[in-house]
Amino acid sequence: MAVSGLPPYDDTNIFARILRGEIPNRTVYEDQWALAFHDISPQAPVHVLVIPKGKYVSFADFSVSASADEIAGFMRAIGKVAKDLGLEAQGYRLLANMGEHSGQEVPHFHVHLFAGRPLGRMLPPG
Ligand code: AMP
Repeated sequence: MAVSGLPPYDDTNIFARILRGEIPNRTVYEDQWALAFHDISPQAPVHVLVIPKGKYVSFADFSVSASADEIAGFMRAIGKVAKDLGLEAQGYRLLANMGEHSGQEVPHFHVHLFAGRPLGRMLPPG
């Protein structure tokens, strides 16, 4: 769903195509709310993307337009993925890019899950 100041959802984006099964992915987890799969260009030993099944452009869109069930289901899916991958003992990082300054490339809301080594500072020095 479009939100003021954001582009409308583009059904041709790569994650929409993954959700439709048009492009292969290395699935880690799937339920009615979310799909988790390995990032094609990993930036850490574990780099998984978790995406909602609904059509949301970004976090801004999702946080406003998704139902409470969708939000809860999505958040629980992220936690389950991290737990099932055994990441809780050593820790992990979640990251969601939104919009131009963040460098968001794919206009379907997604959360990056990084783990598997010390992850350093949250942001590179400006
Ligand atoms: P962002 O910059 O936050 O929009 O992140 C988009 C991420 O999607 C990047 O880390 C890409 O490596 C990843 N990506 C792009 N295409 C694919 C694909 N077909 N399968 C898995 N990950 C992908």
